[in-house]
Amino acid sequence: PAAPGTELPPTHLGPKTDTPLPAPSKSFNDRVGLLRGDITSLVVDAIVNAANRSLLGGGGVDGAIHRVAGPELYDECQQLGGCKTGSAKITGGYSLPSRHVIHAVGPIYNHLSPDDSERLLTGCYTRSLELAVEHGCKTIAFSAISTGVYGYPSREAAPAALGAIRKFLAGPDGAKLDKVIIVTFEMKDQDAYKEYIPLYFPPS
Ligand code: ADP
Repeated sequence: PAAPGTELPPTHLGPKTDTPLPAPSKSFNDRVGLLRGDITSLVVDAIVNAANRSLLGGGGVDGAIHRVAGPELYDECQQLGGCKTGSAKITGGYSLPSRHVIHAVGPIYNHLSPDDSERLLTGCYTRSLELAVEHGCKTIAFSAISTGVYGYPSREAAPAALGAIRKFLAGPDGAKLDKVIIVTFEMKDQDAYKEYIPLYFPPS
C-alpha cells in the first residue's frame, strides 16, 4: 500500500455529491495556505499570474501585476513568444515584492469540454510548480487562474487546482517547496477554497 499521505484520488471532485472524497494528506496541510487579497503585495519567491496566450498583459490580475512590476516586465514578456494554454513561463518580478512572476495561461471555460478545461487548468498548476522548483523557489502564491474573465466555475476550479498541488507535493520534487499559497480576490473563490481545502489538506 501507498505510504500514508501519498494516496492520490482523481484530481477533479467537482461539486457533485456522489463523488468519493479524496484520501487525506495530513503531511502537507501545513504547507498549503489560503488568503484573500491582492497578490501583487506578497513577498514570496514567485506569484502566478493568470495570463493570456500573448503574455503581453490584459485585465484582471494580469493588469494589476504589470502595473506594479513596471515596464521591464512587459519587455521581458515580449521576448517569450507567448505561451500555450495549459502551460506557463517564468520571468523576473521587477518592482514587485516577489522575485519571480510565473505567467500561466488557463483555459477559456466555454470554449472547451469540461474535461479538456480541467486537463488544461491542471496543467497550469503543475507546470507553474515545476518552474518554481527549477528556479529554486521555496514559496509560491497562485491567483485563481481562469476563474475571472475566462469563466471557469470556482467550485470546479478549486478542486482541480488543489488536486494538482497535492499531487506535486507528494511527488519527487514536492519537498523542495516550503509553502504554496492560494490567493483569492472574490468571495466566490474564497468560499470554494474554504470548502475544498479541508478535503484535500485536512487539519491534523
Ligand atoms: P482569467 O482570464 O484567467 O479568468 P482574471 O484576471 O480575469 O483571469 O481572473 C483570475 C483571478 O484573479 C480571478 O479569481 C480574479 O478575481 C483574481 N484577481 C483579480 N485581481 C487580482 C489581484 N490583484 N490579486 C489577486 N487576484 C486577483
